Formats: sequence, C-alpha cells, structure tokens
Amino acid sequence: MTEAGPYKEARYWHQVEEGVLQCDLCPHHCRLREGQRGACFVRMVQNGRLVTTTYGRNSGLAIDPIEKKPLYHFLPGSGSLSFGTAGCNLRCRYCQNWTLSKSRETETCYVRALPVEIAQAAVRENCRSVSFTYNDPVVFFEYAVDTAIECHRRGIRTVAVTAGFICDEPRREFFRHMDAANIDFKSINPDFYRRLCGGDVAVVMDTLRYVKKETSTWLEVTNLIIPGENDSEDEIRALAEWVYRELGADTPLHFTAFYPAYQMTDHPPTPPQTLHYARRLAREIGLRYVYTGNIRDPEGSTTYCPSCGRELIIRSGFSMLARHVGPDGRCEYCGAVCAGVFD
Ligand code: SF4
Repeated sequence: MTEAGPYKEARYWHQVEEGVLQCDLCPHHCRLREGQRGACFVRMVQNGRLVTTTYGRNSGLAIDPIEKKPLYHFLPGSGSLSFGTAGCNLRCRYCQNWTLSKSRETETCYVRALPVEIAQAAVRENCRSVSFTYNDPVVFFEYAVDTAIECHRRGIRTVAVTAGFICDEPRREFFRHMDAANIDFKSINPDFYRRLCGGDVAVVMDTLRYVKKETSTWLEVTNLIIPGENDSEDEIRALAEWVYRELGADTPLHFTAFYPAYQMTDHPPTPPQTLHYARRLAREIGLRYVYTGNIRDPEGSTTYCPSCGRELIIRSGFSMLARHVGPDGRCEYCGAVCAGVFD
C-alpha cells in the first residue's frame, strides 16, 4: 500500500541492535524492524533508516479563521493557511478528526506540496500564519518544522495544534519554530489518558509547562468535555486550578463540546450547561480568559477586559464581529493590557 518512496529520513531515532531501530520522537519509543510502522502508522523503517512517509504530502490546504484552532488571542480575525497529513501518536477513542488521524496516508495525503510552496501560498493568499493542524503535527515533525522555517523567511507566523505528546529533545526543537500553539489538555486524570487515548498526562503537563515557561510561543489550552468521562466538578476544578497555578491566569482556556464520533458514539453530546458551568468555575478560580467552544454561546466566545470588564473582542462562531483591543494589546476603554499577540 505505502511501501513506495523513497521517503525522507526521519529525525530522532537510533539503532537499538542489529536490524532494530527505535523512534525517539514520542514517548511510545516504538522499536521497529525493516518494513514495520510505528504506532502512528506514518513513520517506518525503510532500507535500514527511519523514514517519515507523509513529508511533502498533505490532506489539502484550507484558509481557516485563526479562531478555529482555537486561538482567540493570537492575531484575531486573521486567516491561517491550514493543513494536516495522516496518522496520530495517540489513539483517542473519541477522536473528532479520525478520518485523518486513523487513515492510511495514501487515502488522505493526496496533495503534494513542499514546505516552500506552502509558505509561498500563504503569502499569495494574504494569510498571517500557517497552521499545522487537523492531525497532530508531532507525527509530521520534519514537514512542519521545514515549513515553519520557510514561513519565517517570508514573515509568516506558525501555529501548532497538538496534544503535546512528544519527547524532550524534539519538543525543544519543535516549539522553537512555533509562534503559537493550542495544546489539548484532555483530562487531568492519568487514567483517562491511559484508558481512552493511549497516552500519559505527565508528558502533556511537561509540554504545557515547557511551552509556557521556557519559550516565547503564545499558548492557549483546550479541554474537550465528555459526559461521564471528564465532566465531574472535581475534575474540571482540578484541571482549571492546575492551569491557573502552572500556566498562569493569562493563559486562555477553551472548554469545548464533545460530539459522538469514532469509537465513542455511545456517549451523548456535551450539554451546553456543562460548558457554561466549567467556564464559570474556571473564572472563579482566577483564569481571566475562559471560553466555551463547539456550541453557540455569545458570552462564552467573547473576550472581556480583565480590568474594566468591557467587551474587547466579540465573536460569532469563528468570526470576529468587533474588536476593541489596539495593536499594542491594550483595551480601548481603560488602557489595560489584554494578554496575547495583537499586532
Ligand atoms: S512518533 Fe510514531 S513511530 Fe515514533 S515513537 Fe511515536 S508512535 Fe512510534
């Protein structure tokens, strides 16, 4: 099916013993023999080297509002040239994008575009940024990083939408090239990550802390609330308190609605009241910018000034309707600073 190629050699691997390579990109540390693929499906051993099978091939380029990532405090109202590839290094049973993340890449990665071509397209289309999204860019690390380099040469910003399940060394390299990130914080409960995603919450927490404290990447966080799985008051409180304590009051937190998908069609959609409640709770804890997503909620999609309380950015769906923040990030009414990147 995909033993074509030759494919581009991957980064972050080493030989463990004769005929066995280990991928060091994510904490799965897959050990692979010739012809075998990792758990993400898109990295494999070919001719004694680890290769990435989706480099230069994507699922199609689309111009999305930056609000769709979601990023509400990064160049609001701008367009972001967006693409994904195939594969994922987590296996979330409720994946809302499973046609890409679980696909065999020949089914989805039918558009060929080199990094330089993507950056040129972003310039041509007047996009302020390019987003690595739809599936997790960790599994197309080399394609994303090379594209980011070409974008920066042309003054285009870069955005990663990721679950943050990545090892230390590639994490440092990856975020060095990203101007903004929305990181999925699926649950604060280790059992949730183990049981439903095949991941480790401690790694995700490390990524969140690293991006916030040791990079200049603008960070927003998303928590998808699933009825019966991560919607208890205790869990929502614990997650919001962790974000407040570890990432700070200025880190935007998006609570988004689950819709039945993939292997979890037996759970109902998230009731809007749950999202309203989560938002209220997180604001009481002290987070300044808390949003609801995947539902219609004018209040929960508005940015309020943390000082005077007036409406700073009013949105409807993914559209920005009004903006009262200057290019310097200051409230037009009281002059207080709103956290974010607003130039
Ligand atoms: S990136 Fe893919 S191949 Fe590498 S360790 Fe993770 S799941 Fe395995």
